[in-house]
Amino acid sequence: MIEKIDHIGIAVNSIEERLRFFKDMLSLELAGTEEINDQKVKVAFVKVGDVNIELLEPTDPASPIAKFIAKKGEGIHHIALKTNNISETLKHLNENNITLIDSAPRQGAHGKKIAFIHPKSTGGVLIELCQE
Ligand code: ZN
Repeated sequence: MIEKIDHIGIAVNSIEERLRFFKDMLSLELAGTEEINDQKVKVAFVKVGDVNIELLEPTDPASPIAKFIAKKGEGIHHIALKTNNISETLKHLNENNITLIDSAPRQGAHGKKIAFIHPKSTGGVLIELCQE
């Protein structure tokens, strides 16, 4: 059901500032930027082969990303795994007592379906499931 690592999410104060490293210094391609209003976050995808780095910049102090940065500082926020059937994957995990943040898929960047798994069930890492 899980196919690959889709992207690695990094919480940043400023996408523009961090692109100076990922885009200008490492010559990686900026695949696109998008604002996700219900998460109060702006995202930029940087292509690294067939995996993306997702830079997440809060657009509001109430954003979950703003709270993450306030608590832990900038850094890796989540790892996203691509599944070919997010509903089935969530059902399977739920039936096996894995703690889910989202019991049903919701809309993420690029029109993908996403859902988060709680870090307490994964060894301390927030895991995002996503499906095209
Ligand atoms: Zn993500």
